Amino acid sequence: MAGHTLGLTARHIQDHANASNSIPHWGYADRVVPCTNDPGSCKYLDVVYAAHDLGMYYTGIIWAAIGGILLLWAIGRHFSHSQPSGVQIPLEAGEEVKEKGSSWERLQKAIPSYARQYLLPDASRFIFGRVTRTQVLTLLVLTGYLTIFSFVGMVYGKWITPVKNTPGVYNTRTTLGPWSDRVGVLAYALTPLSIMLSSRESILSLVTGLPYQSFNFLHRWLGYVIFAQASLHSLGWILVETWLYQPQPKVPRDLFVQTYMIWACIAMFLLLLLVALSTPWAIRLTGYEFFRKAHYVLAMLYIGACWGHWEQLKVFLLPGILVWFIDRGIRLVRTALLHYNFLPSGHMGFRAAPANITFFKDATNGDVVRLDFDHPHDAWDVGQHFYLMFPESSIWQSHPFTPLSQPVYGQDTQRHSYILRAKKGETKKIAALSAKRAARSNDHEESHEGLMADARLSVVLTGPYGERTMRDLPVDSNILCIAGGTGITYVLPVLLDLASRPQSLDRRMSLIWVVRHRRDIDWVAPELAILKRKCPNLRTGIHIYVTRAVEDVDPSAPAVSEKATMNDCSREIEPASSNSESSSASLSSALSVHGVSKAELGLNHYDARPSLATLVPEFINTTARGRTDVFASGPGEMISDLRSIVAASNKGGEVWKGEDRWDVRLTCDDRLEW
Ligand SMILES: Cc1cc2nc3c(=O)[nH]c(=O)nc-3n(C[C@H](O)[C@H](O)[C@H](O)COP(=O)(O)OP(=O)(O)OC[C@H]3O[C@@H](n4cnc5c(N)ncnc54)[C@H](O)[C@@H]3O)c2cc1C
Repeated sequence: MAGHTLGLTARHIQDHANASNSIPHWGYADRVVPCTNDPGSCKYLDVVYAAHDLGMYYTGIIWAAIGGILLLWAIGRHFSHSQPSGVQIPLEAGEEVKEKGSSWERLQKAIPSYARQYLLPDASRFIFGRVTRTQVLTLLVLTGYLTIFSFVGMVYGKWITPVKNTPGVYNTRTTLGPWSDRVGVLAYALTPLSIMLSSRESILSLVTGLPYQSFNFLHRWLGYVIFAQASLHSLGWILVETWLYQPQPKVPRDLFVQTYMIWACIAMFLLLLLVALSTPWAIRLTGYEFFRKAHYVLAMLYIGACWGHWEQLKVFLLPGILVWFIDRGIRLVRTALLHYNFLPSGHMGFRAAPANITFFKDATNGDVVRLDFDHPHDAWDVGQHFYLMFPESSIWQSHPFTPLSQPVYGQDTQRHSYILRAKKGETKKIAALSAKRAARSNDHEESHEGLMADARLSVVLTGPYGERTMRDLPVDSNILCIAGGTGITYVLPVLLDLASRPQSLDRRMSLIWVVRHRRDIDWVAPELAILKRKCPNLRTGIHIYVTRAVEDVDPSAPAVSEKATMNDCSREIEPASSNSESSSASLSSALSVHGVSKAELGLNHYDARPSLATLVPEFINTTARGRTDVFASGPGEMISDLRSIVAASNKGGEVWKGEDRWDVRLTCDDRLEW
């Protein structure tokens, strides 16, 4: 610190030799009093110190505002939880409910419905990627707020002041200096917020109930904001030192050898790297895992360099570092607690969970592995996911996966079932390892059918994380689950959970699952069979769309199915049609298959993709009463379409009149693909 203060003192215009006193200013160099410089320089110093002091107050106001918003959010959440909306009380068909509710209740539903109408669709995809207008609006509000604090409370002016001991040479002092400092201070002040927005063990999630992934977008864009502020701070001072101050080039030459300036250059370089490597383009180029690890290292080095540049503002840097280490520490402790159990020997110890492997070959789209195991711990909530680490592959990586199994409250041991699609990194290695083990313990040739085997893979869990999607689900809301491919893991537990309780006969439930191949249905054949068994009690329709049925067609086979339907389970389910190409026995007992002849299928590019724009409104129109909750997981394109469709289905005005049908909510998991 002494070094920096000395560097700053040497550079600063203050006259230390004739000073009688110095006044400390939090976050800045001490002010030397009385000011014995020329009047212009003294006036400029007044502006600099006043702008800085106000800037420090503003950072306090910004943090107080963040705290205030979180507090209000927490209070609001507390009171909304205390309303008994989540209690599942079965109602008889047609039984009258005290609908409409009070004005206050209707208002509470109508405002969010209005908001969804306008704010749920994606904002500009070209600029922001696949994020809702709500997210972008939050960013705009934050940016607007920071812009105001960047400019207010400053005297704007220009002071021509003589350069000491150099007659006839003058400095031009302007508000550019204090303004550059202000944006620099704001960049420091936002550092802990940026780290909080990136935490998995998130304080923000704890308070708001929003899943940690939903803060990803703000984390990324706040990073861009900090980069912009740091760049403006640097640019401002470069202009001052290389142009407005005299004599040139002596001023910059003396400045850029000072330690605090060297740290400034290092910090700026690290920040530039951080931003460049975080762009979707760079992540695709370098791979997600490299991005993640490089991001941690660069971020810590950047904070260190900021400390080197301006230690006086460490009040913002220290909390950032602490939040990061607390996040890491909690993750480690949670993992350890989950795996510290009774060993087969009867002693207590750490042990990975041995998972049974089922392997599904898919050379075109990436192999799929199903893992099943039991693990002794408390139930998680539907909607949550775990991070899985596979010690036999690498202890340095863990990846998020959603259990498709239903958590059972009150049970000591929980069944975990996962479906993993092989991508290019760790999942590819896991799929290869699983294939080898499954093949070894099976005497089968590999085929596209599931290889049920006595093959095992060790799994270390961390979690659960994410949103408790069914926590506030009212008893009369209708449920529409929409999934694409492995997204089924997110929506199946919703249906399994509901199927395990008594339901109102008026509640409508439906599953739309889009898969590429018919054989993909086997991934979750046991769960579909469970749903089928429970169906007589539920008004459930299960619709499976096979988009690449044509590729499955064996030229010698007489027929192929493009859509498997288990419609309205209150009716008798037809047995599978004899000429269908169902690849699993369990499937044929779970679903009726409507065969379509190859001739009917016609073109090779036949695409049985469902029209969600038709199906969603159709579902809503056929509900008896209550709001509709759409649960969805799938490719980005599907989620973007759904946001627009659900937004268009909301009618705040009708909800205000008591027509809950137009209160349509969308809950989806955030599987960001870069
Ligand atoms: C909340 C959540 C739940 C998920 N549930 C499932 C599931 O049930 N089944 C399933 O098959 N997939 C699921 N995924 C996706 C799965 O996590 C990724 O496919 C997997 O991490 C890819 O690992 P890889 O090393 O092979 O990836 P790579 O081939 O290196 O990268 C592919 C893509 O996977 C994503 N990814 C990679 N590593 C991570 C990571 N550590 N955290 C977040 N995203 C990452 C990135 O978007 C990346 O672009 C889920 C993702 C999230 C965020």
